[in-house]
Amino acid sequence: MKAFISIDLEGMPFVVIPGHLGLKGSLYKEAREIATNVTLPVAEELHNNGFEEVVIADSHGPMVNLLVDNLPEYIELVRGYPRPVSMVAGVEDCDVAMFLGYHARAGTAYATFDHTYSGRAIHRVIVNGEEASEFLLNAYVAGDSKIPVILVAGDLRLLEDDVRQHAPWAERVVLKKSLGRGAARSYGMGRIEKELRNGVKQALATFKQNKAKPLIAKPPVEMQVTFNSTYFADAAELLPIVKRVSGLDIEYTAKNMVEAYKIFELLSLAASGVWAIKQNQ
Ligand SMILES: [Zn+2]
Repeated sequence: MKAFISIDLEGMPFVVIPGHLGLKGSLYKEAREIATNVTLPVAEELHNNGFEEVVIADSHGPMVNLLVDNLPEYIELVRGYPRPVSMVAGVEDCDVAMFLGYHARAGTAYATFDHTYSGRAIHRVIVNGEEASEFLLNAYVAGDSKIPVILVAGDLRLLEDDVRQHAPWAERVVLKKSLGRGAARSYGMGRIEKELRNGVKQALATFKQNKAKPLIAKPPVEMQVTFNSTYFADAAELLPIVKRVSGLDIEYTAKNMVEAYKIFELLSLAASGVWAIKQNQ
């Protein structure tokens, strides 16, 4: 059996300032160590419970966050960006998926670094009429390959809102309770590691009882995106399948979630490109 893990940073414990999040950040080194210390016990627990291989998609920013010095041989790391299906690259031939360090969607109160894909470009994403977090978008891509998400660890608000609602069978491990966008409470790593290991065991028990379901976005998938600037909507509507609905809003339809996600990824990249061009003018 093969397990998949996707790693983000904003939902990791103790990660609370912008300096944690970027390659040049003042506390980036600390964030990388935290992410690695959260991830490796989960991978080890999976390996101890019958998974010969664990594919880990490093999925924050430039996607080179995890420290690679001491990766055990059963781990295969997906590193770097851009890449097809971004945060879930490599999920397609796994048996189960887990998301670690995940955060709440844009506009959530009391949630550190609440955003959806791009804090700069994206205000809201709606999939088939339902507002989506990164958890839901990524779970739907796994769902296209019939893979269930069986454990999510991260910000309490994401776990209590989206995960509980859409995947009630998934184990929820709280890594932080946020007091706002820039502050959170977390227990020490010893306790977190214990809860993660117990969470993996419980998640696998649920999986073995066939109680974990893949999340499927019913095709055709209808996507609505609200940008933070008309610059980004101007770029998005250049794609013929994209319909401009208003200054900030676009919509498009895709044949399945993987296709919808890839187009969304392209629109985010286009927004980053426009932003970079405008910064230099
Ligand atoms: Zn991130």
